[in-house]
Amino acid sequence: LEPMSFKNESKEVIDFISDYYQKIEEFPVQSRVEPGYLSAKLPDSAPYCPESLQDILKDVNDCILPGLTHWQSPNFFGYFQANASTAGFLGEMLCSGFNVVGFNWISSPAATELESIVLDWMGKLLKLPSSFLFSGTGGGVLHGSTCEAAVCTLAAARDKALKKLNGWENITKLVVYASDQTHFTFQKAAKLVGIPPSNFRLIETNSSTGFSMSPQQVALTIENDIKSGLVPLFLVATIGTTPTGAVDPIGELGKVAKKYDIWFHIDAAYAGSACICPELRPYLDGVELANSISMNPHKWFLTNMDCCCLWIKEPKFLVESLSSDPEILRNNASESKSVIDYKDWQIALSRRFRALKLWVVIRRHGLANLMYHIRSDISMAKRFEEFVAKDERFEIVVPRNFALVCFRIKPKEEIEGNELNRKLLEAINSSGKAFMTHAIVGGIYVIRCAIGTTLTEQRHVDDLWKLIQEKAQSLLMEKI
Ligand code: PLP
Repeated sequence: LEPMSFKNESKEVIDFISDYYQKIEEFPVQSRVEPGYLSAKLPDSAPYCPESLQDILKDVNDCILPGLTHWQSPNFFGYFQANASTAGFLGEMLCSGFNVVGFNWISSPAATELESIVLDWMGKLLKLPSSFLFSGTGGGVLHGSTCEAAVCTLAAARDKALKKLNGWENITKLVVYASDQTHFTFQKAAKLVGIPPSNFRLIETNSSTGFSMSPQQVALTIENDIKSGLVPLFLVATIGTTPTGAVDPIGELGKVAKKYDIWFHIDAAYAGSACICPELRPYLDGVELANSISMNPHKWFLTNMDCCCLWIKEPKFLVESLSSDPEILRNNASESKSVIDYKDWQIALSRRFRALKLWVVIRRHGLANLMYHIRSDISMAKRFEEFVAKDERFEIVVPRNFALVCFRIKPKEEIEGNELNRKLLEAINSSGKAFMTHAIVGGIYVIRCAIGTTLTEQRHVDDLWKLIQEKAQSLLMEKI
């Protein structure tokens, strides 16, 4: 960290990254390497003497770049994007540059205080009720991922329930409710906090409700569980499911949760960012009935990996479940109970100063540009959806929400539809010109076109559509 070498070497890395972005469209979007490719290129043990940055960057160029799937390519339409921005990168640089570890307030007061401020800013951008904000009666925390947020909220809900039930042996009675479209991260999180996997209920969805969860079905399942002597614990609803972008009816599900006194969590990992736009905010109506809500700015809010916001109405449950009080961390500020010690809101002790990144993103873009970014992705998705709808060889399988379009080649015989579309996706991805992923919903293989990478422009979407048509044409000709 000697200042001059720090300055010079950092500049070299920035130049390297900047060159990478200039030529990013030249790389095949999906990496073409074979498993194990890297060990054939790198020495099998660590160097004894220091190596030069130039040598290291040469290896990054020759050995690492070929093994990257280029998530920041404008032709990346897979999964849900991890959109980055210069502001996000700068914030990340500041975080990494200071490299403080803000596990409690005294370990870096600015890290804690900025995090609380930014969580309130973000909550206000989403028009969350004040019961989720520090300026009201709740509060928020930054995690690295939704999975971590899910583990922590489930632990809080579990301990709250077990206290009432007078004993840990009752953990086998606790039941979690989600839909068959809910991200698998919640199943993992439930298992991690000790909920028996057989007590995780996957409410079936279908195309008639656009794959959203039926509150009636949830209530029925809860009633059956209660009759069997089980204890309903946690209900998770999603705004923007991973397979198709479906939205669960938050308001109705919230009422069911209230009726049975269940912890109600909203997973808005992907689509939460979109709710900063007033015309999309209605998707969050009913959020006032939730106990907690999480969303990932690292998906669609121009914030570089990693960043997940979790808000909770009664942070005391999180703290009761996750706090620790070792002698080595004792200090007057914590004893005074007038500060937040974020180590008690998460799994690990150590934590990064992530708030800097989100703060820089919000300030450098402003609400106006952040809304523009969301709206322009949605309008590109709309245009892509229109292309698909106009071509009679294709069909939209699930109505579009947000900037995710789920489509397929309409098969002549349903039985061969999945294989045909799997081949189409393979042909597109192996061309290296674009990258998409798939989902299976209601037994149907759908191709997901998720628009939202920061560098994607209209021309990339138009080129993608041409590529799809071309590959589909070849496949359909082969069949004749
Ligand atoms: N929830 C939804 C709706 C998602 O789409 C994803 C990831 O794509 C997750 C949760 C998991 O998020 P994370 O990778 O931050 O744990």
